[in-house]
Amino acid sequence: MPAPEKIAIIGSGPAGWTAALYAARANLEPVLFEGLPKQTGGYVLPGGQLMLTTEVENYPGYAKGVQGPEMMSDFREQALRFDTRVEPRDVVACDFHKRPLVLTTVNSGGEKQTVDTHAAIIATGATANWLGLENEQRLAISGGGVSACAVCDGALPVFRDQVLVAVGGGDSAMEEASYLTKFASKVYVVHRRNEFRASKIMRQRVLDNPKCEVIWDSVVTEVVGDKQITGVKLKNLKTNEERDLACRGLFVAIGHTPATAFLNGSGVDLDDKGYLMLSAPPRMHTSVAGVFAAGDAADPIYRQAVTAAGMGCQAAMDAERWLAAEGIE
Ligand code: NAP
Repeated sequence: MPAPEKIAIIGSGPAGWTAALYAARANLEPVLFEGLPKQTGGYVLPGGQLMLTTEVENYPGYAKGVQGPEMMSDFREQALRFDTRVEPRDVVACDFHKRPLVLTTVNSGGEKQTVDTHAAIIATGATANWLGLENEQRLAISGGGVSACAVCDGALPVFRDQVLVAVGGGDSAMEEASYLTKFASKVYVVHRRNEFRASKIMRQRVLDNPKCEVIWDSVVTEVVGDKQITGVKLKNLKTNEERDLACRGLFVAIGHTPATAFLNGSGVDLDDKGYLMLSAPPRMHTSVAGVFAAGDAADPIYRQAVTAAGMGCQAAMDAERWLAAEGIE
């Protein structure tokens, strides 16, 4: 029976790699489960949402911007400079009722293996919900004008002075639409019902903005364009009327799903949407002693690479202190 790991990190986005960097430099010899490649429209390597992002202009330190996959490769390389062991496996279940904690992992051949660990940092992120239309994922991955993050992509030159479409009726859609009006000539907000679920102040900002026009009771049925989006097809759900709308950008803001399904039954508290709950914010402790959270899996609000990296650092420092208090060094 191998000795338990001191600390296992689950996830290979900015939060996971930063947690690994800090844990490794604190001599905790972390093992990081980076996950298996996934089929998401294309074939996507581990590394989280940034593997689906083209230009990243808002991560401090990259003065000239950086491609999302290149940035994740830099994060990985930096964590590997120190004593981080990387396992190309998915963690598919956890049992936090036991001490040490037990993780069940699976490799690319489908073989299961359990791993005992004293502490764990969960940094599995969240994925943007998509409309599920043909062309949508393809143009999102290729940088063809489809995005699920206006704050990340809205300022790119390709969207300047263009007609853009935002989809959704929640706070994210309002925030994205308002943000996009800084650059766009016009922003259409397409919503499937005739009222927004967003908070009053956020929806009023959109309704009062002369650059925004709301298309109620409607859904996007097709994303049109080859290399770049040229428009969308819309359908009014009340009248069944269909129309074409020319646009150079589509921003889908219909919510996120945290990647925490593998934690069901583990013993750690999740909220009603599946986000990990922090027991004593701003610390990264969860409801289970020795289990820490970092990044978008615990953050329904900011969801930025830089905030995820910050949480990764906090989680590793909290874990280091917890392990020391437990006499595990
Ligand atoms: P959300 O509140 O769940 O809203 C999702 C929106 O997308 C809803 O309007 C929903 O329509 C629509 N939608 C869902 N599936 C769809 C589909 N397949 N096709 C078309 N439309 C679809 O998600 P969110 O806006 O991302 O917000 C998540 C949480 O973060 C909320 O608690 C929010 O308050 C918070 N948040 C806060 C801020 C802020 O305060 N600054 C900013 C962003 C988010 P229906 O309304 O018809 O269901």
